[in-house]
Amino acid sequence: MSETVRLAVTGAAGRMGREVLLAAADRDDVDVVLAANRTPVEEIAGVPVRPVAELDDLFAETTPDVLVDFTGPESSADYVSACADAGVAAVVGTTGFGDDGLATLDSAAESVPVLKAANFSRGVAALRRAVREAVAALPGYDIEVTETHHNGKRDAPSGTANTVLEDIEAVRGDAERVHGRVGDQPREDGEIGVHARRAGDVTGEHEVLVAGNHELLSLTHRAGARGVFAAGALDAAVWVAGRDAGRYDFDDVLDER
Ligand code: NAD
Repeated sequence: MSETVRLAVTGAAGRMGREVLLAAADRDDVDVVLAANRTPVEEIAGVPVRPVAELDDLFAETTPDVLVDFTGPESSADYVSACADAGVAAVVGTTGFGDDGLATLDSAAESVPVLKAANFSRGVAALRRAVREAVAALPGYDIEVTETHHNGKRDAPSGTANTVLEDIEAVRGDAERVHGRVGDQPREDGEIGVHARRAGDVTGEHEVLVAGNHELLSLTHRAGARGVFAAGALDAAVWVAGRDAGRYDFDDVLDER
């Protein structure tokens, strides 16, 4: 693998795609060879943005090492399939996949490396570790997970909240998610309350509340700007380039850096 990783970016004109292009312009370990978007835009951070329609042809022309994708689950699955056909590694930040989309990523990962993470922030990786420890140390305590995002976010709960919930469930086998509460709905033992708030331009907040025995522990992560996710995604792209085919997670990157 060459020292500079040749990068393709899909969803280039989206909130995250723009951040990835801006962050890439400040680094010397990546070189953006392709930025593509569904709808036409001129250029971002000095990189021309091309229509994404013929991604196979664009891959053949620009020969990227890694695709960084922040789009939607359907397009993302299509793009990762194109990566498998073209021998391009994939870094997937898109959230909200259903079982079919995840199966597509698994099958692509048989021929190329596919690194998917619902959150590319190091702080969230630390939050997840802290949550696993807290839940293990506080058996029987009530747990509530609340996430807040900007009003344009489509999937709920957030991919990050789902990941944190899976972490909790791995410790608490008998946990059951309860999404919001309305009317006569007293809390049952073993519930995990899940709350999704959508307002304004909030980049992303996640709080895990663990309470019982006259005490309350609140673990909160607040992302101040999308640049934090872009930096993590680019670290992941550099890490995954040239790896063996297979599924990887952002934790794999952090464990080695
Ligand atoms: P956005 O709406 O601002 O941008 C989405 C981009 O994807 C746009 O360019 C849009 O044209 C494109 N797109 C969407 N659906 C498409 C389709 N069917 N075909 C082709 N292009 C399509 O969204 P965003 O805030 O940039 O978020 C994008 C994704 O990244 C979401 O799933 C979000 O949850 C996720 N996200 C992940 C992280 C992380 O750290 N992993 C951080 C922030 C956002």
